[in-house]
Amino acid sequence: MTPSDKHVCVFPGSFDPITLGHIDIIRRARRLYDGVIVVILRNESKQGLFPLAQRKQIALEALSDMPDVQVETFGGLLADFLGYTDTHIILRGLRTGIEFDAEHHNALLNRMLAPGTETVFLPASPDISHISSSAAKEITSLGGDASSLLPAASWEALKKAAQRQ
Ligand code: ADP
Repeated sequence: MTPSDKHVCVFPGSFDPITLGHIDIIRRARRLYDGVIVVILRNESKQGLFPLAQRKQIALEALSDMPDVQVETFGGLLADFLGYTDTHIILRGLRTGIEFDAEHHNALLNRMLAPGTETVFLPASPDISHISSSAAKEITSLGGDASSLLPAASWEALKKAAQRQ
């Protein structure tokens, strides 16, 4: 069976670093798809804290109980990643209605760039819809405790980064 015969979804994002919100989406996606590929993309409009390779290392550690989930980094267009991996389903989490406009726009652009691609949205679980990497980074950099938002690997990496500042 080739990847195109299987229902594999690609979960793209910055994952800077991976949070419990991301992990919730990944766990739920595993129940819906034969395979899940997390792809850590460089986001030109967001100043990243960790290099892509470190984000991947943190994500792999945080997802060590899900060895079937593939984690990749990619410096180019998501549409090109889909082409290289012969995948057609983009998965995104939706935390608020406000996010929908931008996500809808991106879904249309990705369909234009990679015809046949569909973007599927999963609503954030209510108890963790407040979680974001940026909130975790801000809290930690100001000396607060963001451990309830993060897997241990992300929390440890953020604490180390805060000490270096
Ligand atoms: P991006 O910069 O592409 O938005 P993020 O790492 O911030 O990358 O988010 C990646 C994906 O994870 C997005 O679809 C985002 O909506 C989703 N996501 C992030 N946090 C949560 C959460 N708490 N609950 C559900 N989905 C989330």
